[in-house]
Amino acid sequence: MNGNRTGVPQSSTFIVADDRIPFPETDQVLRCRTSPALFQIEDIPNTDQDPRAREKALAQAKHACSGCPIVRDCLKWALANPTLTRTGVWAATTKRDRTQLRKQLMARLGEDWVGVVAERDRHRRERARAARAVPPTARELALARLELESIPTRPAPYNRWKEPITPQRAASNLRVLALVASGKAA
Ligand code: SF4
Repeated sequence: MNGNRTGVPQSSTFIVADDRIPFPETDQVLRCRTSPALFQIEDIPNTDQDPRAREKALAQAKHACSGCPIVRDCLKWALANPTLTRTGVWAATTKRDRTQLRKQLMARLGEDWVGVVAERDRHRRERARAARAVPPTARELALARLELESIPTRPAPYNRWKEPITPQRAASNLRVLALVASGKAA
């Protein structure tokens, strides 16, 4: 990411982004990539025909960002990369907004606020990963075991989402549930 939303280098000087906060990946169509000129509000002049042209473009760009699926991460990236986001609207903020936000972050988190934010993000991702990898409970394991044991002769794996439940399967499920409820399955 070089600060140019179309991905075309802007000048011969290539500025490396701060990789502690990577730009969010997404397959979604982003308005700032399909209509980058709209977000480059400094390039939109007010004219006699439209004395509020820039103000209107700013409102449009902010509106587009507010519906963007990656707005939060885009904002973090834009704040962490002041050199790459000197102009334009990024995550519904103007240059002045971003300067103000960076000052607030520095006052709250210290000089290395980018590092602090990146570290918090890393912890958050790890917690989410751990939550997804929670092992099954003893009750869930018992249910799975009992279901296998109580239906030893089924001809093919039962697809619960596609096949209708049979009276035999309903009775078997009831037996399993009764065993679990009585505590014998633990
Ligand atoms: S939030 Fe960021 S990525 Fe999304 S449209 Fe705005 S500038 Fe583009």
